[in-house]
Amino acid sequence: MNKLSKIIGYLALFFIAFMFIAIFLHNTNINDFLMSMENRTFDLRQNVLANSRYKKPNKDIILVTIDDHSYEYLLNKYGEWPISRDIYAKFINYVEQQKPAAIAFDLMFIKSIKSSNNADNVLANAIGKYKNVYVGMNFDNQPFDVRMPIELNKKFQVNVQNKSKVNFSDVTFTNCRSILPQILEITPNVGIINVYRSTDGILRKIPPLMIYQGEYYPHLALMVGLEYLKEKESRSDILARQQRVNNFVIERNSNIKLGRRSIPLDKDGGAILNWYGPEGQVFEEIPFYKVIQAMDDKDTKKFNFKNKIIYFGTTVTSLSDIKSTPVSKLYPGVEVHATYINNLIDNNFIKKVSITVDILISMVLAILVGFVVIRTSSTIVAVGTTIFSTIGYIVLTYFLMKFFNLWVGIILPITVVISVFVSAYIIKYILKSRDFEYQYKLATTDGLTDLYNHRYFQEQMIMQVENCKRYNSQFSLILIDIDFFKKFNDTFGHQSGDAVLRQVAQRLKKNVRTTDIVCRYGGEEMAVILPNTDRDEVIITAQKLCKVVSEKPCKLANEQESTVTISLGIATYPNDGQAPNEMIASADSRLYSAKENGRNQVGL
Ligand code: GH3
Ligand code: MG
Ligand code: MG
Repeated sequence: MNKLSKIIGYLALFFIAFMFIAIFLHNTNINDFLMSMENRTFDLRQNVLANSRYKKPNKDIILVTIDDHSYEYLLNKYGEWPISRDIYAKFINYVEQQKPAAIAFDLMFIKSIKSSNNADNVLANAIGKYKNVYVGMNFDNQPFDVRMPIELNKKFQVNVQNKSKVNFSDVTFTNCRSILPQILEITPNVGIINVYRSTDGILRKIPPLMIYQGEYYPHLALMVGLEYLKEKESRSDILARQQRVNNFVIERNSNIKLGRRSIPLDKDGGAILNWYGPEGQVFEEIPFYKVIQAMDDKDTKKFNFKNKIIYFGTTVTSLSDIKSTPVSKLYPGVEVHATYINNLIDNNFIKKVSITVDILISMVLAILVGFVVIRTSSTIVAVGTTIFSTIGYIVLTYFLMKFFNLWVGIILPITVVISVFVSAYIIKYILKSRDFEYQYKLATTDGLTDLYNHRYFQEQMIMQVENCKRYNSQFSLILIDIDFFKKFNDTFGHQSGDAVLRQVAQRLKKNVRTTDIVCRYGGEEMAVILPNTDRDEVIITAQKLCKVVSEKPCKLANEQESTVTISLGIATYPNDGQAPNEMIASADSRLYSAKENGRNQVGL
């Protein structure tokens, strides 16, 4: 029962400590700090995973990129940047000959005085000619006096039914930079290319769906990925379960359900990407200039584009949008899009577990560590368990991400474990020192009178003799015996005898110096050790003690009162004895003579 209540007490303590930590975290910007630390642990896990090449990228994704070589080639060949837009039209027509699953441009064909209207029309017509060509557009929140927002046609919108707590306020926009009106006119295949950046500037998520002027619009990569899946799995999956791919349901658990696939959303509407490797090393990449050469040579067999996703973008640093990602400081936007599509195809987006799960894990670890620290007497076991469970937990989170695509928190549980470890140690230390004090008191005092016990008396006698020898000083001893105590007990009973013993002890204690040591020698005999006290002084003290005991009656157990007297014998070091037993014998013989002389006096 005692053990159980102790355990419940510890649990309550941990719970309170835990609540404090939770409230503390909730109300300070330490929370932000811990969140960014948590993001770093995500990056670390992704880095290790990406470098282990555990995840294989999809072979159906081909990037056609304007890389450094292509950029030089284009400047040489056409003498300008941006290049005339009919070149992209030629590219579309060339690739379409091989029936790709989709062609997507991670570019924005905006209105430009540099490009000829004619070339723009040629591009728009090429885009309109095929149903599987996609282009990008970007939303923003520019003020209306800078740029009036355009109205986007209904054909670009998607229907979203949000049954979850996902909040789209971070991806809600009021304005956008319009792309060519000819393109907006001719095709519904315009996707949004906005990305999410954390406060530390690193891109970890992409929003699949965004709100513009109150309506939902899909991300370019989502549209392209769905186009690919529609072609590939039309009967078995998406279309079978979904009448139209532009109807999205965000389920209660924040997942966008797409047949047997799903895109888990973070609470701000971002999908957390699962990275495949460092930039330039994941997806098959064809430099644009090689395609131009093949086009010029009318070589239609040079590349195999059949049923592949052809994603066009820039990787040259001077031109392109380069992002910082968990796996690379510089990651071209087009590869980010490819990663996104690959996550969609392989159904391996990262799902962040809810904060409740993180808190539960923290509690389990806290209880484990707290228990071990409190229970074990070995520091090595306590520290070892803490380190072992922490490292074990971190390894577990890595495997949860590797095999289940789960992002389980590291920073919160570890912060809690460290706090619990420290507080458990403090609690343990306090309990221990309290226990020590208690044991010490038990070993040195007498339970009835609260005076020091016989053992302590003997120790102190040795100490005093040693002390006086070394410093050449004096100390005195008084032995005290209550007079006719046997008779007293017989008359009033042992209960009253005990009460009198206690009161005599109190009076003795009260009337000596705090440096004097009052002990119960045994039975109804007591002793006072008086350091630095000579014969004259001890006589005065002894006589005073004799007087304070006899002058006032003591209360008895049955509310009666009775006066008791004491007899005392004194001895002073070194004159009366050179060793403890000599001193005691000397005081004892004087006590005997006090008794002989009629009691209630000091034997001198
Ligand atoms: P004297 O004046 O010669 O000392 O007479 P006395 O009766 O006190 O003689 P003695 O010292 O031989 O007797 C000690 C008695 O003290 C014996 C015992 O009954 C009593 N006594 C000893 N310890 C305790 C105690 O802890 N409680 C109580 N009530 N009595 C005790
Ligand atoms: Mg006695
Ligand atoms: Mg006595």
